[in-house]
Amino acid sequence: MPKKSLWKRILHFLSDYKWYILIAVIFVSATLFGIFLLSGLDPYHRRSLLANMLLWIPLGAFNTMIFVIFLYWLHYGGGSFAKLTTKAVKSSEVQVKWEDVIGMDEAKQEAMEVVNLINDRTKIKKIGGKVLRGILMIGPPGCGKTYLAKAIATETGLPFLSISGSEFVEIFVGVGASRMRKLFKTARRLAEEHGGCIIFIDEIDAVARKRVFSVFGGTEETNSTQNQLLAEMDGLKSDDKYNIVVIGATNASEDSLDPALLRPGRFDRKIYIDKPSLKDREKIFAYYLSKVSHEPDIDVGRLARRAVYKSPAEIANIVREATMIALRNGKDSIGWKELSEAMERVDLGIKHRRNFTPQEKERIAYHEAGHLITMYLLHPTDDVFKASIISRKDALGVVYHQPREEFYTSDRERLLANIKVALSGYTAEKIRFGVTSDGVISDFNAAMKLAHTMVWRLGMNSLNMLGDLGAIPAEHLSEEIKTKLNNDVQNILTSCQQEVEELLNRERHILDRFAQELISKEELEYDEIERIFAEYGKYNPKTGSSFAPPAE
Ligand code: ZN
Repeated sequence: MPKKSLWKRILHFLSDYKWYILIAVIFVSATLFGIFLLSGLDPYHRRSLLANMLLWIPLGAFNTMIFVIFLYWLHYGGGSFAKLTTKAVKSSEVQVKWEDVIGMDEAKQEAMEVVNLINDRTKIKKIGGKVLRGILMIGPPGCGKTYLAKAIATETGLPFLSISGSEFVEIFVGVGASRMRKLFKTARRLAEEHGGCIIFIDEIDAVARKRVFSVFGGTEETNSTQNQLLAEMDGLKSDDKYNIVVIGATNASEDSLDPALLRPGRFDRKIYIDKPSLKDREKIFAYYLSKVSHEPDIDVGRLARRAVYKSPAEIANIVREATMIALRNGKDSIGWKELSEAMERVDLGIKHRRNFTPQEKERIAYHEAGHLITMYLLHPTDDVFKASIISRKDALGVVYHQPREEFYTSDRERLLANIKVALSGYTAEKIRFGVTSDGVISDFNAAMKLAHTMVWRLGMNSLNMLGDLGAIPAEHLSEEIKTKLNNDVQNILTSCQQEVEELLNRERHILDRFAQELISKEELEYDEIERIFAEYGKYNPKTGSSFAPPAE
């Protein structure tokens, strides 16, 4: 029995340590075989070989050392890899005054609160309130996030450190984290000197995307940078002597950011900055116009109405563009004409004249006149600002229109109106020439997409089929249902087209008139368009008078 158990133990030992034993066997036999081979050599070769092998030991150690030092340097050190390009600016140099922040009253109010929280920090700490560390500014690009952050710095009198999230994204793992460490080090130094510091990280989504925990793949760089950011922010909490506030800005949605970032004590305060409203745009136009010389009679309200969905940055760009146009025209101040041209250039692109044959020109004129009339008389929300048969980008002509105010949703009426307007160019060609051209392709594309979306995705179909049918694989629907839905799409298009055809036939004299006006003038402005409609007793239903002539 003891013999058997001993044998078993040996077997166990062998199976437990089989890899070690294998390695030992290889090692020992390689050594023995090597010695055997060496002993067969003549003394000269044997000595040179042994010397070589001995010298490799310090050399190998030296190489390893260099490698380790390089890695360490990348991680913690300087060198050009980890260099930061932040600009530390003292608040006295940022100089964005509170009254210069215009057209974002709600965000401004939130920011004012933030300023108070930063300024009353000691007071808040005394009563045990929550100290502010991180603010997230969320909103579309060009809406003044940087501007607002700078205003906060000016208002609090603290130095302002600004960096873009993309500067943390590097090929080498660890460089981003190292830069983050440096950023906070700089901030702490500034805070010691000036009693606080504001760190502004623009495009924070570049380092704050949802972390992916994988062994492979290139997401680890973002992960390690983000971990560093979180660690630094948590460090601020425990090390309370620094009044450092981190402001992150993003135009990505909140959901795409890592939830760890939004936890209490990190970026737990949010400021939403949206595109400016009509009233806000008026203020922004007035502000930028006040900085250039302009004609006194510019209607700011009308400018703002026309600049629907424009961000403050785009409005600033329009005014700049207008001054350039004025300069080129040899004028020393800008007027409505320059502003209107600038806005068009921003929206539609630059005009380039093509040489059309008279027939082509007439076709384009009728096509655009069709759009113009349908838009003016049928569309519930959009105004025509201009009609033109001068080419811009790929378009041969254009009817420039915009909603009277910003809409974030469209109802059935508005969707149908968009389809009717899209089909009206085709209809006008059909009425005038009997045949139509390939100039309708992009109109048809738009109309088809809209009708398809209504039927398939918005429940606006004759089958009373609710739900977004595009969300499920097409094979889950029977052929019969698909055919019916596609018929619905066609029905919407045909009935819209018929309505437009009736309208344009009824108003044929207006259609002919606008086509002729376009052929002779090439471009018609808002005022001219309105005047011509008025000649026929038509008034813009959107201005409130709804077809009826003004009371006299
Ligand atoms: Zn068209």
